[in-house]
Amino acid sequence: MVTLPSVTLPGSETLPSIGLGTWRMGESASRRAADIAAVRSALDIGYRVIDTAEMYGEGGAETVVGQAIADALRVGTLNRSELFIVSKVYPQNASAAGVAAACERSLKRLGLDHLDAYLLHWRGAVPLAETVAGFESLRDRGRIRHWGVSNFDVDDLEELVGTSGGDRCAVNQIYYSLTQRGPAFDLLPWQAGRALPTMAYSPIDQGALVRSKPLLSLAERRGVTPAQLALAWLVDQPGVMAIPKAANELHQRENLEALAVSLDASDRAALDAAFAPPRRKSALAMI
Ligand code: NDP
Repeated sequence: MVTLPSVTLPGSETLPSIGLGTWRMGESASRRAADIAAVRSALDIGYRVIDTAEMYGEGGAETVVGQAIADALRVGTLNRSELFIVSKVYPQNASAAGVAAACERSLKRLGLDHLDAYLLHWRGAVPLAETVAGFESLRDRGRIRHWGVSNFDVDDLEELVGTSGGDRCAVNQIYYSLTQRGPAFDLLPWQAGRALPTMAYSPIDQGALVRSKPLLSLAERRGVTPAQLALAWLVDQPGVMAIPKAANELHQRENLEALAVSLDASDRAALDAAFAPPRRKSALAMI
């Protein structure tokens, strides 16, 4: 039996290594029905992890995700407990009281009574201790199951784990792809040492990687698509999962099927030759 890649959260819950991103969804009323249909098709195909944020479409993406989930739950094709829904709070809303209020607004738009993970979207001016206290209180009240961070480099994580309760962080969502390998130098080893999983965002560089000539030729040699090879490279790494955004159903299928693409040492070496691993520390890239 083939074991598909998964990541393990603190507490030993496992997640499939590919989820769906939703940035750029819910931004316009004229595309609303198409956006809902896109998330619904992803659920029907088998996506179980959905990443969204209060920022995306200023709540519009959460509304779209909520509608698609409600439709799927209504027809009985899926149970809420099978889903892992991630949302993110704006840094300016991340005070202890602000995070509680923002979470309630997100839950209302999503039509859910809890989030599976709630992340600080990026660091802002609010002290981390306040945000952690807000997250922990939401967790104690059952409004979120896990909390985490996004766009945190090693120094940010060091500060976080030095904060009371900061070691309960469940995930760091960062920009990590074949062209953005910087985190492999120090951030991923730091996270591996603490069993803190990585959620790779923009894993195909917002679509640009599928046009990369070296990737195209390596993918052709392996009989897979460039997006599949880019995703397979990510999820081949312990503790790393990816959340490609795809509205197109064919893209969604292709991306999920990347879970079954296994790499060997010669594939990894060919990818290293085309996309050089980092030799020194670089600042964490952000989109
Ligand atoms: P991605 O790297 O996921 O690329 C998305 C683009 O690639 C879309 O235009 C999509 O087209 C296209 N695409 C997807 N699959 C394929 C495929 N198989 N073949 C060809 N083209 C494809 O970029 P995102 O920036 O959207 O990142 C993914 C998610 O990560 C976001 O949606 C968001 O949820 C999260 N994110 C988090 C950030 C943070 O700060 N925490 C920052 C940025 C993103 P189409 O839609 O037409 O299928």
